[in-house]
Amino acid sequence: MNIVLFGPPGSGKGTQADNIVQNFNLFKISTGDLLREEIKNKTNLGIKIKEIIEKGLLVSDNIVNELIKKVLSNLKKESVKKGLIFDGYPRNLKQAENLDKITDVDKISCVLNLKVEKEIIIKRILGRQMCTNCGLIFNEYFNPASKSNHKCGSSFLKKRSDDNEKTIAERYETYLDITLPILDFYKRQKILYEINGKEEIGEIFRKIRVIITSLQA
Ligand code: ADP
Repeated sequence: MNIVLFGPPGSGKGTQADNIVQNFNLFKISTGDLLREEIKNKTNLGIKIKEIIEKGLLVSDNIVNELIKKVLSNLKKESVKKGLIFDGYPRNLKQAENLDKITDVDKISCVLNLKVEKEIIIKRILGRQMCTNCGLIFNEYFNPASKSNHKCGSSFLKKRSDDNEKTIAERYETYLDITLPILDFYKRQKILYEINGKEEIGEIFRKIRVIITSLQA
């Protein structure tokens, strides 16, 4: 089973992707994480990617598609068979078409659209923290890291360089102009599930769990 997590920046895709990974035997592919990994490695490509991300723009399809191809080619066949969760991909129609090609045999089972309005997103993004060691996502206001939910310690918690007020506004515009229109593509295929992304993290996951379980049956 292959799943796409869809929604504006800060809607909780990464958090829910981690919940799905922990509860179902699926493998997560987050294009944001893959791009940040390139930035961390300070490659020439990483430097270019950083500039684009900090402007709130989309990185080119070629770069993103290559990174996905690399992950898939390193993944064991059994993992691919069990299923993939795509977080942050696709972000435009060309990427949606490419994803259909990549998942040719198993197809996309569902697209989970986390719906949250702009005002809430801004608050969430400004409080977001990411662990540079384990990759888990927390929020200093709504979902703080503690000894019980995070083992690495607070020194690894960092703010993302694109999580500032100016870049958020640009990222949201990019989402409205380029990413949101691809929902129609999935609506036509009847695999789109709308989820109220304003609810509490556990409640959202309960709804996601019901959808995935019903599709597995
Ligand atoms: P968010 O969903 O909160 O914006 P992500 O980690 O998914 O966070 O993405 C961060 C940035 O990485 C995006 O603003 C964009 O610049 C870039 N990016 C992520 N995924 C893609 C993609 N599929 N295509 C192009 N650019 C991407």
